Amino acid sequence: MNRLKAQKQSESRWKYALLVAISLVLATVMAACNSTANSEETTSDNEQRPILIEGPMPIEAEAFADRLENVEKEASGIYDFYIGTVDDYPVIVVKTSKGMENAAAATAVAIERYNPVAIISQGTSGGHDPSLNVFDIVLGKRTVNIGALKTRNREDNEGIEPTEWIPMDLMASEGSAGEDPDAENIRYYEADEDLLAAANAVKDKHTKGKVVEGTIGSADVWNNEVDRIKWFHETFGTSVEEMETASAAQIAKAYEVPFLGVRILSNNKTNDGEYNPDTATANQEYVYEVVKEYIATYLAK
Ligand code: SAH
Repeated sequence: MNRLKAQKQSESRWKYALLVAISLVLATVMAACNSTANSEETTSDNEQRPILIEGPMPIEAEAFADRLENVEKEASGIYDFYIGTVDDYPVIVVKTSKGMENAAAATAVAIERYNPVAIISQGTSGGHDPSLNVFDIVLGKRTVNIGALKTRNREDNEGIEPTEWIPMDLMASEGSAGEDPDAENIRYYEADEDLLAAANAVKDKHTKGKVVEGTIGSADVWNNEVDRIKWFHETFGTSVEEMETASAAQIAKAYEVPFLGVRILSNNKTNDGEYNPDTATANQEYVYEVVKEYIATYLAK
């Protein structure tokens, strides 16, 4: 009996010793892995962070992607990333697909995967300002979500009155946007000053129209009612509308990544400007010049 007990005791001591030994080996391996990961992080911090260029439709992304050198393509979901260089500096073009959700998701995925130094959301838009014509370009000094709205109170059978709707700030607080009076403000996302300066510096490169600073309004809506367009122009100060920039700007702001929206008018209902898809390529040609200027002035070492 006693011998059996002693044998069991010595067996369990062995097991204990073995466990300690295994844990020590594991701990050493894990520490080694961690220090490799840390040293990789430090190296990637020293590497050049890419500029991210976003375009929703194939015609709004592929002309820029074609201009990249040393291109490799990666995909995440439906978001196609063209990873290459401009003037030996890393630039990534992402084809986001249309709309606010796609733009936001593609922006977040790109920030997590590629750690961009700056983001430009570019593409086509519809004019809200009658002084702007098809082929003119708006640099989004400010961007605003024109789908974030709160209606007034109206009871059963009192109808719908969209001109009474008020702006709703999605970022005002963590409380109820419906109840919080602080949410009843227009949230403008401001352009990064350096990106805006780079864009202004190469204005003359765009010869098919003028380049102006303005306000880009975005929502998953295509407005064809001229009075509604006027209402946005007067209430929010919008120069153009489209379906991506404000959501990308919101995500860029959430991660504090410098951001600029650059939108060419492909149509303008307020002055009978007919839709012209060739504007998409013209905008990418201009944004290519903006990127070269930004690299030369702000990023080249
Ligand atoms: N009419 C085009 C479709 C454009 S789809 C066609 O038939 O091919 C919508 C895209 O165009 C979105 O990415 C949006 O950002 C942009 N856009 C251009 N003009 C717009 C407008 N007036 N209102 C909303 N989005 C517009």
